[in-house]
Amino acid sequence: MDKIYIRDLEFIGYHGVFEEEKKLGQKFYLSLELSTNLREANDDITKTTHYGEVAETVKKVFFQKKYDLIETLAEDIAREVLLSFPLIKEVKLEIKKPWAPVGLPLKDVAVEITRKWNEVYLSLGSNMGNKKENLEKAIKEVSKIRDTFIIKESKIIETEPFGYKEQDDFLNSCIGIKTLLTAREVLTELLAIEIRMGRERKIKWGPRIIDLDIIFYNKEVIEEDDLIVPHPYMEYRDFVLKPLEEIIPNFVHPLLSKRITALRKELENEKN
Ligand code: ATP
Ligand code: CA
Ligand code: CA
Repeated sequence: MDKIYIRDLEFIGYHGVFEEEKKLGQKFYLSLELSTNLREANDDITKTTHYGEVAETVKKVFFQKKYDLIETLAEDIAREVLLSFPLIKEVKLEIKKPWAPVGLPLKDVAVEITRKWNEVYLSLGSNMGNKKENLEKAIKEVSKIRDTFIIKESKIIETEPFGYKEQDDFLNSCIGIKTLLTAREVLTELLAIEIRMGRERKIKWGPRIIDLDIIFYNKEVIEEDDLIVPHPYMEYRDFVLKPLEEIIPNFVHPLLSKRITALRKELENEKN
Protein backbone atom coordinates (compact mmCIF):
# COMPACT_ATOMS: atom_id res chain seq x y z
CA MET A 1 0.00 0.00 0.00
CA ASP A 2 1.26 3.52 -0.82
CA LYS A 3 1.62 6.12 1.92
CA ILE A 4 0.99 9.79 2.38
CA TYR A 5 2.65 11.42 5.40
CA ILE A 6 1.73 14.57 7.26
CA ARG A 7 4.40 15.14 9.87
CA ASP A 8 4.32 17.21 13.02
CA LEU A 9 1.32 19.34 12.34
CA GLU A 10 1.66 21.87 15.17
CA PHE A 11 -1.17 23.34 17.23
CA ILE A 12 -1.57 25.01 20.60
CA GLY A 13 -4.42 23.12 22.26
CA TYR A 14 -6.23 22.81 25.57
CA HIS A 15 -6.47 19.04 26.00
CA GLY A 16 -5.43 17.25 29.18
CA VAL A 17 -6.76 16.14 32.55
CA PHE A 18 -5.11 18.93 34.55
CA GLU A 19 -6.83 22.26 35.08
CA GLU A 20 -3.69 24.15 33.98
CA GLU A 21 -3.55 22.23 30.70
CA LYS A 22 -7.11 23.29 29.94
CA LYS A 23 -6.41 26.93 30.92
CA LEU A 24 -2.89 27.65 29.68
CA GLY A 25 -2.78 25.33 26.71
CA GLN A 26 0.30 23.61 25.35
CA LYS A 27 1.96 22.50 22.17
CA PHE A 28 0.81 19.38 20.28
CA TYR A 29 2.38 17.68 17.28
CA LEU A 30 0.21 15.45 15.14
CA SER A 31 1.62 13.06 12.55
CA LEU A 32 -0.37 10.95 10.14
CA GLU A 33 0.53 8.07 7.89
CA LEU A 34 -2.27 7.47 5.38
CA SER A 35 -2.43 4.25 3.37
CA THR A 36 -3.93 4.63 -0.07
CA ASN A 37 -3.31 3.81 -3.71
CA LEU A 38 -1.21 6.54 -5.33
CA ARG A 39 -0.57 4.87 -8.68
CA GLU A 40 -4.10 5.59 -9.83
CA ALA A 41 -3.65 9.31 -9.13
CA ASN A 42 -1.75 9.85 -12.41
CA ASP A 43 -1.24 13.58 -11.74
CA ASP A 44 -4.98 14.12 -11.19
CA ILE A 45 -5.85 15.69 -7.83
CA THR A 46 -9.42 14.37 -7.95
CA LYS A 47 -8.08 10.80 -7.89
CA THR A 48 -5.97 11.25 -4.79
CA THR A 49 -6.35 12.60 -1.31
CA HIS A 50 -5.66 16.28 -0.87
CA TYR A 51 -3.26 16.58 2.11
CA GLY A 52 -4.33 20.14 2.74
CA GLU A 53 -7.90 18.98 3.22
CA VAL A 54 -6.79 16.15 5.52
CA ALA A 55 -4.83 18.65 7.63
CA GLU A 56 -7.92 20.90 7.81
CA THR A 57 -10.04 17.93 8.94
CA VAL A 58 -7.49 17.13 11.66
CA LYS A 59 -7.59 20.78 12.75
CA LYS A 60 -11.39 20.81 12.85
CA VAL A 61 -11.56 17.82 15.21
CA PHE A 62 -8.62 19.10 17.27
CA PHE A 63 -10.41 22.36 18.08
CA GLN A 64 -14.00 21.08 18.32
CA LYS A 65 -13.70 20.52 22.07
CA LYS A 66 -11.27 20.16 24.98
CA TYR A 67 -10.40 16.49 25.42
CA ASP A 68 -9.16 15.03 28.70
CA LEU A 69 -7.30 12.27 26.89
CA ILE A 70 -5.24 12.46 23.73
CA GLU A 71 -6.23 8.79 23.24
CA THR A 72 -9.84 9.87 22.65
CA LEU A 73 -8.78 12.82 20.52
CA ALA A 74 -6.70 10.42 18.38
CA GLU A 75 -9.68 8.07 18.04
CA ASP A 76 -11.97 10.88 16.86
CA ILE A 77 -9.43 12.25 14.37
CA ALA A 78 -8.72 8.83 12.83
CA ARG A 79 -12.45 8.19 12.50
CA GLU A 80 -13.17 11.56 10.87
CA VAL A 81 -10.29 11.16 8.38
CA LEU A 82 -11.46 7.66 7.37
CA LEU A 83 -15.07 8.79 7.00
CA SER A 84 -14.19 11.96 5.04
CA PHE A 85 -11.62 10.57 2.57
CA PRO A 86 -12.89 7.45 0.84
CA LEU A 87 -9.56 6.63 -0.83
CA ILE A 88 -7.82 6.25 2.53
CA LYS A 89 -7.85 2.66 3.71
CA GLU A 90 -5.87 3.02 6.91
CA VAL A 91 -4.65 5.81 9.18
CA LYS A 92 -1.75 5.71 11.60
CA LEU A 93 -1.87 8.72 13.88
CA GLU A 94 0.59 9.94 16.48
CA ILE A 95 -0.09 12.78 18.90
CA LYS A 96 2.85 14.17 20.88
CA LYS A 97 2.80 16.51 23.88
CA PRO A 98 6.31 17.94 24.27
CA TRP A 99 5.27 20.05 27.28
CA ALA A 100 3.31 17.34 29.09
CA PRO A 101 3.17 18.16 32.83
CA VAL A 102 5.07 15.11 34.02
CA GLY A 103 7.55 16.79 36.36
CA LEU A 104 10.58 15.04 34.87
CA PRO A 105 12.70 15.99 31.88
CA LEU A 106 11.53 14.25 28.70
CA LYS A 107 11.32 14.86 24.97
CA ASP A 108 7.60 14.28 24.71
CA VAL A 109 4.70 12.04 25.69
CA ALA A 110 2.86 10.45 22.77
CA VAL A 111 0.09 8.08 21.74
CA GLU A 112 -0.10 6.26 18.44
CA ILE A 113 -3.10 4.42 17.01
CA THR A 114 -3.83 2.67 13.73
CA ARG A 115 -7.39 2.51 12.46
CA LYS A 116 -8.74 1.16 9.19
CA TRP A 117 -11.76 0.05 7.22
CA ASN A 118 -12.51 -3.60 7.96
CA GLU A 119 -14.09 -5.93 5.43
CA VAL A 120 -16.56 -8.24 7.11
CA TYR A 121 -18.89 -10.95 5.82
CA LEU A 122 -22.12 -11.87 7.56
CA SER A 123 -24.52 -14.76 7.15
CA LEU A 124 -28.25 -14.15 7.65
CA GLY A 125 -30.98 -16.70 8.24
CA SER A 126 -34.68 -16.75 9.11
CA ASN A 127 -37.27 -19.52 9.36
CA MET A 128 -40.15 -17.92 11.26
CA GLY A 129 -42.80 -15.37 10.31
CA ASN A 130 -42.32 -13.47 7.07
CA LYS A 131 -38.81 -14.73 6.39
CA LYS A 132 -38.06 -12.51 3.40
CA GLU A 133 -39.16 -9.41 5.27
CA ASN A 134 -37.06 -10.46 8.26
CA LEU A 135 -33.93 -10.70 6.11
CA GLU A 136 -34.66 -7.34 4.50
CA LYS A 137 -35.29 -5.70 7.87
CA ALA A 138 -32.04 -7.15 9.25
CA ILE A 139 -30.05 -5.81 6.28
CA LYS A 140 -31.61 -2.39 6.80
CA GLU A 141 -30.66 -2.53 10.49
CA VAL A 142 -27.07 -3.54 9.63
CA SER A 143 -26.85 -0.59 7.24
CA LYS A 144 -27.75 1.69 10.17
CA ILE A 145 -24.90 0.47 12.42
CA ARG A 146 -22.53 3.38 13.09
CA ASP A 147 -19.53 3.74 10.77
CA THR A 148 -20.70 0.78 8.70
CA PHE A 149 -21.67 0.44 5.03
CA ILE A 150 -23.02 -2.48 3.06
CA ILE A 151 -20.75 -3.25 0.11
CA LYS A 152 -22.08 -6.60 -1.16
CA GLU A 153 -25.35 -8.46 -1.02
CA SER A 154 -26.09 -11.98 -2.23
CA LYS A 155 -29.40 -13.30 -3.47
CA ILE A 156 -31.69 -14.98 -0.97
CA ILE A 157 -31.81 -18.79 -1.10
CA GLU A 158 -34.17 -21.32 0.46
CA THR A 159 -32.55 -24.15 2.44
CA GLU A 160 -33.42 -27.10 4.62
CA PRO A 161 -32.71 -26.83 8.36
CA PHE A 162 -29.25 -27.79 9.65
CA GLY A 163 -28.90 -29.75 12.91
CA TYR A 164 -32.42 -29.74 14.37
CA LYS A 165 -34.62 -30.99 11.50
CA GLU A 166 -38.14 -30.61 12.95
CA GLN A 167 -38.62 -27.04 11.79
CA ASP A 168 -39.57 -24.94 8.81
CA ASP A 169 -37.17 -24.32 5.90
CA PHE A 170 -34.86 -21.31 6.05
CA LEU A 171 -34.21 -18.34 3.89
CA ASN A 172 -30.50 -17.43 3.91
CA SER A 173 -28.23 -14.82 2.42
CA CYS A 174 -24.82 -13.23 2.96
CA ILE A 175 -23.72 -9.62 2.95
CA GLY A 176 -20.37 -7.85 2.93
CA ILE A 177 -19.85 -4.71 4.97
CA LYS A 178 -17.06 -2.24 5.50
CA THR A 179 -16.88 -0.97 9.04
CA LEU A 180 -14.69 0.89 11.50
CA LEU A 181 -16.00 -1.31 14.33
CA THR A 182 -14.00 -4.10 15.94
CA ALA A 183 -15.25 -7.69 15.55
CA ARG A 184 -16.60 -7.61 19.09
CA GLU A 185 -18.45 -4.34 18.47
CA VAL A 186 -19.97 -5.85 15.32
CA LEU A 187 -21.09 -8.92 17.31
CA THR A 188 -22.70 -6.72 19.98
CA GLU A 189 -24.60 -4.80 17.29
CA LEU A 190 -25.77 -8.01 15.60
CA LEU A 191 -27.02 -9.53 18.88
CA ALA A 192 -28.86 -6.26 19.60
CA ILE A 193 -30.54 -6.35 16.17
CA GLU A 194 -31.59 -9.99 16.77
CA ILE A 195 -33.14 -9.05 20.11
CA ARG A 196 -34.87 -5.95 18.74
CA MET A 197 -36.37 -8.15 16.01
CA GLY A 198 -37.76 -10.50 18.64
CA ARG A 199 -35.24 -13.37 18.65
CA GLU A 200 -35.54 -15.82 21.53
CA ARG A 201 -32.97 -18.57 22.12
CA LYS A 202 -34.71 -21.80 23.14
CA ILE A 203 -33.49 -24.86 21.22
CA LYS A 204 -29.90 -25.00 19.91
CA TRP A 205 -30.09 -24.63 16.14
CA GLY A 206 -33.89 -24.26 16.58
CA PRO A 207 -36.36 -21.96 14.80
CA ARG A 208 -35.54 -18.26 14.72
CA ILE A 209 -36.91 -14.98 13.38
CA ILE A 210 -33.40 -13.89 12.54
CA ASP A 211 -29.86 -15.19 12.95
CA LEU A 212 -26.87 -12.99 12.19
CA ASP A 213 -23.40 -14.55 12.24
CA ILE A 214 -19.96 -13.15 11.52
CA ILE A 215 -18.29 -15.43 8.98
CA PHE A 216 -15.11 -13.44 8.26
CA TYR A 217 -13.58 -10.33 9.81
CA ASN A 218 -10.86 -9.31 7.36
CA LYS A 219 -8.54 -12.35 7.41
CA GLU A 220 -8.42 -12.36 11.18
CA VAL A 221 -8.58 -15.45 13.36
CA ILE A 222 -10.38 -14.85 16.65
CA GLU A 223 -10.85 -17.52 19.30
CA GLU A 224 -12.65 -16.21 22.35
CA ASP A 225 -15.37 -17.92 24.38
CA ASP A 226 -18.21 -16.03 22.77
CA LEU A 227 -16.63 -15.00 19.47
CA ILE A 228 -15.07 -17.39 16.99
CA VAL A 229 -14.01 -16.14 13.57
CA PRO A 230 -13.96 -17.44 10.86
CA HIS A 231 -17.28 -19.02 11.81
CA PRO A 232 -16.38 -22.59 12.86
CA TYR A 233 -19.07 -24.40 10.85
CA MET A 234 -19.07 -22.34 7.69
CA GLU A 235 -17.26 -24.97 5.63
CA TYR A 236 -19.95 -27.57 6.44
CA ARG A 237 -22.87 -25.33 5.51
CA ASP A 238 -23.98 -24.90 1.94
CA PHE A 239 -26.43 -22.21 3.09
CA VAL A 240 -23.38 -20.09 3.98
CA LEU A 241 -21.05 -21.17 1.15
CA LYS A 242 -23.55 -20.75 -1.69
CA PRO A 243 -24.42 -17.08 -1.07
CA LEU A 244 -20.78 -16.35 -0.17
CA GLU A 245 -19.61 -17.90 -3.42
CA GLU A 246 -21.89 -15.51 -5.25
CA ILE A 247 -20.29 -12.40 -3.68
CA ILE A 248 -16.67 -13.47 -2.92
CA PRO A 249 -15.86 -16.66 -4.86
CA ASN A 250 -12.09 -16.09 -4.62
CA PHE A 251 -11.86 -15.06 -0.97
CA VAL A 252 -9.31 -17.34 0.74
CA HIS A 253 -10.28 -18.78 4.13
CA PRO A 254 -7.45 -17.74 6.51
CA LEU A 255 -7.24 -21.10 8.34
CA LEU A 256 -8.18 -23.55 5.58
CA SER A 257 -6.23 -21.62 2.91
CA LYS A 258 -8.84 -22.39 0.29
CA ARG A 259 -11.10 -20.24 -1.82
CA ILE A 260 -14.86 -20.22 -1.18
CA THR A 261 -15.44 -21.92 -4.54
CA ALA A 262 -13.09 -24.78 -3.57
CA LEU A 263 -14.68 -25.20 -0.12
CA ARG A 264 -18.08 -25.45 -1.74
CA LYS A 265 -16.90 -28.06 -4.27
CA GLU A 266 -15.42 -30.13 -1.45
CA LEU A 267 -18.67 -30.02 0.50
CA GLU A 268 -20.61 -31.13 -2.57
CA ASN A 269 -18.22 -34.03 -3.19
CA GLU A 270 -18.56 -35.16 0.43
CA LYS A 271 -22.34 -35.26 0.12
CA ASN A 272 -22.26 -37.48 -2.99
P1 ATP B 1 -24.12 -21.49 15.06
O1 ATP B 1 -23.05 -20.68 15.75
O2 ATP B 1 -23.79 -22.94 14.97
O3 ATP B 1 -24.50 -20.91 13.74
P2 ATP B 1 -26.41 -20.26 16.25
O4 ATP B 1 -26.15 -19.16 15.27
O5 ATP B 1 -27.77 -20.86 16.27
O6 ATP B 1 -25.37 -21.45 16.02
P3 ATP B 1 -26.67 -18.53 18.44
O7 ATP B 1 -27.59 -19.00 19.53
O8 ATP B 1 -27.24 -17.56 17.44
O9 ATP B 1 -26.05 -19.78 17.70
O10 ATP B 1 -25.39 -17.81 19.05
C1 ATP B 1 -24.81 -18.20 20.24
C2 ATP B 1 -23.55 -17.37 20.50
O11 ATP B 1 -22.55 -17.64 19.54
C3 ATP B 1 -23.71 -15.88 20.39
O12 ATP B 1 -24.23 -15.32 21.57
C4 ATP B 1 -22.26 -15.42 20.16
O13 ATP B 1 -21.66 -14.93 21.35
C5 ATP B 1 -21.53 -16.68 19.78
N1 ATP B 1 -20.66 -16.56 18.59
C6 ATP B 1 -19.40 -17.04 18.54
N2 ATP B 1 -18.85 -16.80 17.35
C7 ATP B 1 -19.76 -16.12 16.62
C8 ATP B 1 -19.76 -15.58 15.30
N3 ATP B 1 -18.69 -15.72 14.50
N4 ATP B 1 -20.88 -14.94 14.88
C9 ATP B 1 -21.97 -14.83 15.69
N5 ATP B 1 -22.03 -15.31 16.95
C10 ATP B 1 -20.95 -15.96 17.42
CA1 CA C 1 -25.94 -19.42 12.99
CA1 CA D 1 -25.96 -16.90 15.61
